[in-house]
Amino acid sequence: MATQKIREVPVLVIGGGPAGATLAADLGWRGAGCLLVDETDGTNQHPRANMAGQRSMEIFRRWGLADRMLAASLPFDYPIDVIFSTRLNGFEITRFSLGSTAAFQKAAVKIPDIAWSPYFKTQIGQNFIEPVVCEFARSCANVEVRHNWRLVSFTQDASGVTAEIEKTDGSAHETVRAKYMVGCDGGRSLVRHSLGIEFTGRGVLARNQSIYFDAPDFLESHPRGPGTLLWTLAPELRGVFITIDGNSRWTYNTYFIDENDTMDPAERICKAIGRNIPIKVLSVQPWAGYQVVAEHYRKGRVFLCGDSAHLFNPTGGFGMNTAIADAADLGWKFAAVLAGWGDESLLDTYEAERRPVGVRNTVEAGSNFDRVATLMALPPEIEEDSERGRKAREAAAENIHSQKKTWSASGMHLGFRYEGSPLIVPDGTPPPPDTAQVYHPTARPGHRAPHVWLGAKRSTLDLVPREGFALFNFGPDAEGAFAAAAKERGVPFVETRIDNAEAAALYERRYALVRPDGHVAWRGDAVPADPGWILDLARGAVATQASSERRTAISTGTAR
Ligand SMILES: Cc1cc2nc3c(=O)[nH]c(=O)nc-3n(C[C@H](O)[C@H](O)[C@H](O)COP(=O)(O)OP(=O)(O)OC[C@H]3O[C@@H](n4cnc5c(N)ncnc54)[C@H](O)[C@@H]3O)c2cc1C
Repeated sequence: MATQKIREVPVLVIGGGPAGATLAADLGWRGAGCLLVDETDGTNQHPRANMAGQRSMEIFRRWGLADRMLAASLPFDYPIDVIFSTRLNGFEITRFSLGSTAAFQKAAVKIPDIAWSPYFKTQIGQNFIEPVVCEFARSCANVEVRHNWRLVSFTQDASGVTAEIEKTDGSAHETVRAKYMVGCDGGRSLVRHSLGIEFTGRGVLARNQSIYFDAPDFLESHPRGPGTLLWTLAPELRGVFITIDGNSRWTYNTYFIDENDTMDPAERICKAIGRNIPIKVLSVQPWAGYQVVAEHYRKGRVFLCGDSAHLFNPTGGFGMNTAIADAADLGWKFAAVLAGWGDESLLDTYEAERRPVGVRNTVEAGSNFDRVATLMALPPEIEEDSERGRKAREAAAENIHSQKKTWSASGMHLGFRYEGSPLIVPDGTPPPPDTAQVYHPTARPGHRAPHVWLGAKRSTLDLVPREGFALFNFGPDAEGAFAAAAKERGVPFVETRIDNAEAAALYERRYALVRPDGHVAWRGDAVPADPGWILDLARGAVATQASSERRTAISTGTAR
């Protein structure tokens, strides 16, 4: 009998949603290899997430894809407005105007967010993002992307993972041997269940329904004008229209839908508009909002990433964006270990760095949900043309304005930090506030190295190398000790002189050592006597106990 050939790959990625596609793209971009399998045909057109946060766009920028994402996003002059009405032809309750991408790029809107990133909220459907990232991953030399293939089962041992995969039509089967496997297989994750890892948290928050539709007359059918989110809060409606193309394509998401609700989707949409217009329903998806995080992100050689590791309520738009940032953290660590300059223990720090962010973000989305839920229980007089009705609308507007952080959350997208990570040398400075709406730019170790424009189109973000570490040097002279230590260890390294007063002031120290994912590992005004030790720490090659004592000594100035 012929022996079945076993396919060997460095990393097996299960799932080609935002998490899996990002991981495959980042691995491929860094020259590492993987096989990605996804059980769909890759053409799921139902949009779920509709917004790429600043950090996701910065990650796409790294691979040269940000302009393509911008091109596929809403027209640049489309207003990023959030409008609240009883129904679209009923009373307007209130609105937030956040400007537009064009106004943001011309710095013509009065928001501080302009200085924080090259990007603002980019309104783009997940259904556009996934194929672009998958196509990029596929174009990388060592990456194979297979749609219509699924993971069936797997086992692991000390040196790798053996996985059984099959074509979804049952016509082919393969055994794959991988050094590592990552479950990017979404909320129902077979990988997470097989590992016996539980979710903890508040569980299901609400059961909802999303209707994707096309209606060429939509924008003319009501007086609200264009916006990205058009909420309808009349008691039996409780939903939000989300634009997909700024014109005829929208989703309508109804919250707290009753299990026995059988209302026709087109009828529901017309009720929310308050007028009958032709509606072509493209797809209907029931979905549930959660606030849960996996107890662990890793077991042996198998990892969880994205929705398999945490589930959100979409209030705030953090689910997809957290999934993308998880994958970016894992990407450089796998690439470093596979290339040999990162120690295996680098992979342990994925959970240490990303699980606290998963908790932070799901809790924030859950608290946003609690506030939004109060809008789902407005009194019936909200629709009345009476004094009572006017007062109810005024009270609702006040409530909505107290929730602005739900719709404008740059602090969440940019302000997460890897506090206490074993890869970071703290500098003893206190952390800036971690606030949802406002990002506090800082180069404090553990934070994202902040963005400053260095030229018309060149950002400090662009100085982060594909492989290894960058030493940002704001002083007049070159520094050689880090480079020598990196060479000795075979760690890719580049020293970059930055002659820019704004950046020097923001970074606050003469030197900042920046990791391949753009987070600061160390900063200081003088290079310590043993820069190799800092490089070893940042690449996971220093034992945790010893490192925490020495890290403290460095941060308190008792070691140089
Ligand atoms: C209505 C709604 C609105 C949302 N809005 C936002 C928003 O505005 N902003 C935001 O950031 N997030 C939002 N989200 C959340 C976002 O959609 C998810 O967080 C995101 O899709 C997670 O990406 P993922 O790659 O982890 O998982 P998924 O997108 O679920 O991808 C998992 C993939 O794994 C594949 N798979 C599963 N099992 C197997 C198997 N055994 N073998 C092979 N393949 C497998 C699936 O086919 C799927 O393609 C929203 C979600 C919903 C439901």
